[in-house]
Amino acid sequence: MNDPAQNLRALSCADDYDPNSMPVAKAREVIARFLAPVTASERVNVRAALGRVLAEDVVSPLNVPAHDNSAMDGYAVRHADLKPDGETSLRNIGSSFAGVPFKGAVGAGQCVRIMTGGVVPQGADTIVMQEHVKAEGDSITVGKGHKKGQNLRRAGEDLASGQVALKRGIALRPADTGLVSSLGIGEVAVYRRLRVAFFSTGDELVSIGSQLKEGQIYDSNRYTLHGMLTRLGCEVLDMGVVRDDPQLLERAFRDAAAAADVVITSGGVSVGEADFVKALLDKLGEVVFWKIAMKPGRPLAYGKIGSAHFFGLPGNPVSVMVTFYQFVRDALLKLSGIDPVPAPPSFMVPCTSALKKAPGRTEFQRGILSRDASGGWSVRVTGEQGSGILRSMSEANCFIILPDAQGNVAPGTLVEVQVMEGVV
Ligand code: AMP
Ligand code: MG
Repeated sequence: MNDPAQNLRALSCADDYDPNSMPVAKAREVIARFLAPVTASERVNVRAALGRVLAEDVVSPLNVPAHDNSAMDGYAVRHADLKPDGETSLRNIGSSFAGVPFKGAVGAGQCVRIMTGGVVPQGADTIVMQEHVKAEGDSITVGKGHKKGQNLRRAGEDLASGQVALKRGIALRPADTGLVSSLGIGEVAVYRRLRVAFFSTGDELVSIGSQLKEGQIYDSNRYTLHGMLTRLGCEVLDMGVVRDDPQLLERAFRDAAAAADVVITSGGVSVGEADFVKALLDKLGEVVFWKIAMKPGRPLAYGKIGSAHFFGLPGNPVSVMVTFYQFVRDALLKLSGIDPVPAPPSFMVPCTSALKKAPGRTEFQRGILSRDASGGWSVRVTGEQGSGILRSMSEANCFIILPDAQGNVAPGTLVEVQVMEGVV
């Protein structure tokens, strides 16, 4: 397992390994074998930790809450004072507000006015909410039926001192940075960001700012990749457009692999072009070229160039996004130290469109998930599904995942949808 080159070579001898028809799940499994997460970490301020991956458990240094306190505005009483079958009069001897506790103790026949978050004074064991009390001067009358210990939040109820509040391997969300600060902790250890270098390949590509000549197109893949990588919390290194020229490509591959943990390219892996990129990568590293049994996104290359991981994505803009979401996302999260890597949420809903689908491959059609007037969720397909139509990704909010065996889909059929929120 430690020598990726040897492992990638050994793969081709496995019984079920067919680079010309690689099932989606098999490709994911092979890639996962080569991923060793980053280990270096740094300490950052809790605000700067948002989105970063926790490199060690956060252990609570205190009880949360620190004291027994009231969950209601009302009165702190001794339950033993309350008559089980009638009204009880108690004398109000003071108040306990959030941040301003009552200093004394509650004796027999006494009570203390208490507000939400106020520390429960010594002697009291029960809170009666103010709506259940008649107050007159410094005395109150309480009815029957109150349970001992009601409306109390116990010290250490949320978190006991010494308990793990957050586990290593999570990407911190606002709830987590809030929780960390509630413990009085100002800094946390996070893994260093993953460095990802990427470039587009193709003689037809032009960067924004230049006039298009006949046959040229604007490069969009670098922008979708930049966006998706940024959303995953990676440090990005945009290396621009590289012409289909062996010398320029070799230099770009070498520079990228030297500068980053992961190298991602788009284009140059389809039939014809793949041959010369393949020859180049055979020289520079150990890379496998697969035709994945999926649509869109059939050609995909994966391997190592030196110590860097390499993903060679197809050129078509939709294929880039689909292969990124289906293969690269999980790999980058794992390399970033996320453990376990959460699967994007998916569930079954009725599809209102008729879908064309050939059996024998997994299709990732672009869908729009929405709620109808009766409150139920359903999905419809975005118009044309060509892998060059980036607008279909822009309009979509989910993938409709149609498994290998599935044929055409009639309207009303239940289909699996995977929401895109968060990454694409
Ligand atoms: P390739 O895989 O290089 O043969 O490219 C497949 C298709 O995707 C061709 O139509 C290319 O022009 C297009 N394409 C490749 N790279 C890009 C890019 N960076 N931005 C937009 N379209 C691209
Ligand atoms: Mg090309």
